[in-house]
Amino acid sequence: MPAANAQEIRQMAAHHRAGTEGLAIAAPLPDDVEVSFEFFPPASEGSEKSLWDSIQRLAPLGPKYVSVTYGAGGSTRQRTHATVERLLKETDLVPAAHLTCVDATVQEVDAVAQEYWDMGVRHIVALRGDPQAGAERYVPYPGGYAFASDLVAGLRQIGDFHISVGAYPEVHPEARGAKADMDNLKRKLDAGADQAITQFFFDTDVYLRFVDQARAAGIWAPIVPGIMPIHNFTKVASFCKRCGAGVPRWLADLFDGLEDDPATHRLVAASLVAEQCRALHGQGEKQFHFYTLNQADLTYAICHMLGVRPETDAASARA
Ligand SMILES: Cc1cc2nc3c(=O)[nH]c(=O)nc-3n(C[C@H](O)[C@H](O)[C@H](O)COP(=O)(O)OP(=O)(O)OC[C@H]3O[C@@H](n4cnc5c(N)ncnc54)[C@H](O)[C@@H]3O)c2cc1C
Repeated sequence: MPAANAQEIRQMAAHHRAGTEGLAIAAPLPDDVEVSFEFFPPASEGSEKSLWDSIQRLAPLGPKYVSVTYGAGGSTRQRTHATVERLLKETDLVPAAHLTCVDATVQEVDAVAQEYWDMGVRHIVALRGDPQAGAERYVPYPGGYAFASDLVAGLRQIGDFHISVGAYPEVHPEARGAKADMDNLKRKLDAGADQAITQFFFDTDVYLRFVDQARAAGIWAPIVPGIMPIHNFTKVASFCKRCGAGVPRWLADLFDGLEDDPATHRLVAASLVAEQCRALHGQGEKQFHFYTLNQADLTYAICHMLGVRPETDAASARA
């Protein structure tokens, strides 16, 4: 490359300054971020302990709500119910109960929703649900809600819930196409949902384009980015294949060789997701929904870097 003249150097420096200002990590500490945390119900005594340890660690960060996933099968569903009930009884956190259409009639799903309402649950994450393990594809249950939009309409008849629905920046894998999937998101919001939480993603531009497309399609409800702190890259990559989230080459390269080095893996994961969140914040995103996988460390660190701290710490950091 020929040597740059003085003007080119000035331009490059200006460009570099603009880029540095835009760089997530170099920006001032945000003070306007709201977070929510997703947990899954525990399947054993050991996992019960790690769930509640994680909840206790993250609770002081003052999440807007904490959501509890809902699985296929009676015992899993019972565990969701029990976790939501314990959150209500033993904490000041606002629970959001996930609910799906899978393997249940409309009456059965409505009964669960009514029970939640009677317990004091006011936020439902309404989903179609994934097919039970072993089933090749989703088939609506006879007499059940077929799709999430039907469930949202049903919930609206039961109580004045705050309703969240799923959204897919990289298109839901079973959708007929991006437009059909966007039409479906609109249908869910038109049926009465209040906001959308996205599937996790790693390419920030893909998410930002999706939000632009949603706005262009007349969707004005809040869209909250779903953030996946990567505790185990191999597992996350295999999950990506099933849910249609992309694994960019640069991401695989970052974790390459760290399979047996959990300490470095954790450091890389924390800096990666913090950078993603700070970049999104730089683009105007103020709410983040974390898929905690019942592990608090990474989520806590990322929240810290987003300025989300226990009340007293946050005040002193900004003072
Ligand atoms: C934030 C979040 C939380 C989640 N939590 C859980 C959970 O707790 N438990 C769980 O089992 N799963 C959960 N999932 C996974 C979710 O259940 C799956 O992604 C599921 O495959 C789709 O659910 P949905 O609510 O987005 O479905 P829908 O919005 O019903 O869409 C499903 C597919 O059907 C298509 N479609 C919708 N309506 C029609 C129609 N009328 N005709 C033809 N096609 C149609 C859509 O384009 C899409 O491809 C979650 C996902 C997200 C994003």
